[in-house]
This record gives sequence, structure tokens and C-alpha cells, in this order.
Amino acid sequence: MAEKRDYYEVLGVSKSASADEIKKAYRALAKKYHPDANPGDKVAEAKFKEASEAYAVLSDPDKKKAYDTYGHAAFDPNSAAGAASGFGGFDFGSMDFSDIFSDLFGDAFGGGFGGFSSFGGGRRSNRPRQGESLRTRVSITFDEAMKGTTKQITVPYLEECSSCHGSGAKAGTSPVTCDRCGGRGQVTVQQRTPFGIMQSVSTCPECNGTGKVIKEKCSSCNGTGYNRVNKSFEVNIPAGIDNGQSVRLTGKGNPGENGGVRGDLFVAVTVAQHPILKRQGVNIYSTVAIDYPTAVLGGEVKVKTSDGDVMLKIKPGTQSDTKMRLKGKGVPLLRDPKARGDQYVTIVVNVPTNLNKEQKEALENYKKTLDQ
Ligand SMILES: [Zn+2]
Ligand SMILES: [Zn+2]
Repeated sequence: MAEKRDYYEVLGVSKSASADEIKKAYRALAKKYHPDANPGDKVAEAKFKEASEAYAVLSDPDKKKAYDTYGHAAFDPNSAAGAASGFGGFDFGSMDFSDIFSDLFGDAFGGGFGGFSSFGGGRRSNRPRQGESLRTRVSITFDEAMKGTTKQITVPYLEECSSCHGSGAKAGTSPVTCDRCGGRGQVTVQQRTPFGIMQSVSTCPECNGTGKVIKEKCSSCNGTGYNRVNKSFEVNIPAGIDNGQSVRLTGKGNPGENGGVRGDLFVAVTVAQHPILKRQGVNIYSTVAIDYPTAVLGGEVKVKTSDGDVMLKIKPGTQSDTKMRLKGKGVPLLRDPKARGDQYVTIVVNVPTNLNKEQKEALENYKKTLDQ
């Protein structure tokens, strides 16, 4: 399955964005990628769906809260977080976007050209923009996932240039206001068309929308304000994390533009499989074999758990495929590591093979007693 993008990143807003900003961001994307405006364009359709899903979550205070706490896992029915958030069964596939859509646009799309007045995309202004979020991976063992762990990761990182402190301008100088756009970052372009002269607003080509230009570049970062370094971060991985879930390192992504905050770094966690213990959601499943006499007469069997071996009591007359529950031996819940799922042990009765003469006779004698 393709990895899901962060909803804030999808909408291009910061995590502190207001409901209005979220609405505005979605509105712009929905206009750009709406299927009516891009007939037959599968990429646009996918983008439209992605943005609509992000908006459906971030525009709903409860879902937003769940997402802020657990990330995408909040809506995963198979994860501890999904169980904890109460939205684990939320199905985006069957979601009806038309509601959100008409709520946002009214009949803009039925109303002719007016709805598209700002259509065209690619427009930039010099408002602050959050930096791009980055992704990396880390692998841990089954036991580390059960108990939680700390890992050191090293990633390429754009570090603020120490010579110019991120301005990109040569030491002793500063960036100056762009003459071409007067610092607005946008210019108005007139075009002659068969319908007359059309005006459109586009990004200032001189300053690339930043509103500022650097006259003399800083030599150590070549005017970019940042240097690429390999940087190490410590990642705290909570107990109960499941394979494929990510840990967010806030503000460790790429730098923002025009004073915007940095993006985040998402560390996707790969959890190695355990040879005996199989995880499903917050529960653990395992199988243990007992011999025939223990099944008949009762006894004990050693069972592996993530806390070590425990002795499990077997009742006389236990059938093969009997399932037993070890309460609290499952996976810790992400929101409350003291609470844990259970372990389910399936008992399998081994049918004896290669009996010696004495054992065979004993069984035959037993069989005779059945025939009487
Ligand atoms: Zn510099
Ligand atoms: Zn400019």
C-alpha cells in the first residue's frame, strides 16, 4: 500500500492553521483538481480525493483531534490507535464528498465561469509557507515495539547557513525589496486574446514570489541560506507501535519560505516479525503443542509471551484447537501503555507417532476397553 501523505501537507497548511485557513486551502485545491475541471485526468482525480479526505478529517474537530494525536493510525481499524480514537472503522472509500463540496462552493461549479476566476494554480504570494515534510524509515524488533525504544537516525538536513543566518545575502548585506513587484511577490500580466485583453496575476519572476532579492549572495551557501548536512536525531518510539506506523518529528523537515515554519520529519517504523508471536491489532496470537496424555489427563505447558515464558494450566479433556486467553499479555495501547491487549493461545494436541512396543500395547489395551 502506498504511504499516505500527512493531511496538513496535503492541504499545504501548518498544524496551527485555523478552521478558516484549512477551508480556504481545501477550496483552492478542490477548484484546481475537481473532476469537472479536469475531465479524464486520473492524477487530478487522485489529488482531489486526497485533498477531500484530508479536509474531511481536519474540518471535523473530533477527527482532527484524533489525527493530531495518532496520525493516520487513528482511522486504521487494525491498530491500537484506531481502537483508541473510536474512528477505527471510518471508511474513506465510501465517503460522500459531495456534501463537503456543496457546503464549500454552493453552486460555483454549476454557475459558469465565475467559479473559476482564480483558477489557474501555481500562483504564489509572499505569505509564510511551511516547509516540505520529509520521510525516512527505521527498523525495530518485535520486542522493541512491545516495550518502546529510542533510535538514532541520520538524515540529510538543510541547516541554516552560519555565515548569513539563513538570509542568503553576503555578510554585512541584507536582501532588499524586489523592484519588479514592490515586495508583493506577484505581478499582473496582460494578455491579448480573441476575447479582448485578459489580466492575470502570476508569481513575480524576479523574486520568485518572495518579494525580496539578494544583490550579493552569501558565498558559503550560494545564496540559498541553507547548507545540506547529515544530521542525527533521536526518535522516541512508543510502546505498542505497529508495523508501518510513523513517528512525527515536528519541525525537522525542510525550512519554510518567507518565515514559514519548518516541515516535519516522518519516521516510518518497520517492525520485524516474531518467530512465534503474531500480532493483530492490540492482541497477540500463538500456538502451542501439548502431548496426548496431557490433553487427556490435564497438566501444564510452557507458553512464550512478550514478557517471557509462563506456565499455562491444561484442563483434563482439552481438545485440539482449544483457544485460551492470557489477559493483559497483548500489545500496550499507544495512548495508555499501562493498558494492554490479550494473548490468545491455540492448543494443538500432538498425535503420537513412532510408538514403541510397550506404548503401543498400552494404547491397544485402552482401545479394548472402548470396545467392551
Ligand atoms: Zn549563507
Ligand atoms: Zn518580485
